[in-house]
Amino acid sequence: MHFALHAGTVIDPVAGALPDHIIEVQDGTITAVSPAADWSGSGVPVHDASTLVVVPGFVDCHDHLTISGGDEVEQALRPFARQAVTATVVARTIIEAGITTVRTLGDADAMDIKAKRAIDEGKIPGPRIIPAVAPITRTGGHAHFMGTVADGEDAVRRAVRQHLATGARWIKVMASGGNSTPGSDPMVQEFTDAELLAVGDEAARAGLDVTGHLHGGPAVDTAIKAGFRSIEHGAFLTTEQLDQIAEAGMWLVSTVGIGRAVADDPTAPEFYRVKAQRALARRIQMLREARARGVKVAIGCDGNHGKVAVEADALLEAGFAPLEVLRSLTLEGARLCRTDDVQGTVEVGKHADLVVLGSDPLASASSYSDVRAVYRYGQLYPVSQPRSSERLSDQHLTREPVVNGPATAGA
Ligand SMILES: [Zn+2]
Repeated sequence: MHFALHAGTVIDPVAGALPDHIIEVQDGTITAVSPAADWSGSGVPVHDASTLVVVPGFVDCHDHLTISGGDEVEQALRPFARQAVTATVVARTIIEAGITTVRTLGDADAMDIKAKRAIDEGKIPGPRIIPAVAPITRTGGHAHFMGTVADGEDAVRRAVRQHLATGARWIKVMASGGNSTPGSDPMVQEFTDAELLAVGDEAARAGLDVTGHLHGGPAVDTAIKAGFRSIEHGAFLTTEQLDQIAEAGMWLVSTVGIGRAVADDPTAPEFYRVKAQRALARRIQMLREARARGVKVAIGCDGNHGKVAVEADALLEAGFAPLEVLRSLTLEGARLCRTDDVQGTVEVGKHADLVVLGSDPLASASSYSDVRAVYRYGQLYPVSQPRSSERLSDQHLTREPVVNGPATAGA
């Protein structure tokens, strides 16, 4: 497969704006990026985006294929077949939003692995998936209703080994409590120090990176000691912790959009909305402090599937420059996921993971939701316009009774 994409402007997080450029693609890889006037590719078919803007594919570092905000307990306990349908719908939503790579941080029954296989075999449309399967949590801990429950150092080590055997490429651990679990306090460290250090040690020996679900509190300090590579959410990080995170070279994955969505979602339980609102009140200021301290920031839609523009908007609100925002949406995510050798920028040698936008995202973050076409490894995913709001979740599917019985909540 050999073609060229004629862009009105290429915007690269490192090179900046490149007006009137040609991106040549061969067998999924970018082979040339040059001014249109200098290009001499006669005979190569040209895709015309000469009135549009092309940016690298977005890297979403935190989503779930089977959870979409709202009542997470109810969704996680839905019948397996229905979760498979949801994952199929959500994978398509994600790729059509321009997210060419997603790190999935929690789906029961390793649904992300199953979806990844179907996508990689070309059976369903979707992004490149970097799966973490079901998160490691403790008895009654955050998301225990969909997690791998493990208590004690031996058990958490076994959980890491099980995940490796299942095909996980990352380890996700619920280090602090969470908003969406009844009775779970986001400021409480839910594992002992020894357990979190054991997760870090076992994962390192397996060659896997660890990310911690962490809103704040002492679990953050332990995660830094345990060598985790990233911190999810982080609403209540202190300035001292942000300094340590920067010094350790860790990434913060910002997930403002799901908080905003849940805060106003009548289908979300009251306790979830209240905790989400409390975290929201801190998030923008925390991001502002993170930026000032040089913390590397990537983004995650975390159930608010494909809503990259919302994350971009939050970063702008926190004082990030427009090109820094694009960098967080693309290159920083790729660096966090260790895929920046082939992703995150529009450069020769990298995968042709490209998003065609209708307008300039450096002028307005809303451009990130004006996706006209997506290329993943050179394959074109045309985006139906206008996008149906129903496509963004599976809420239009009728609710079914929970068949596995109610979750035994932590409170
Ligand atoms: Zn999540």
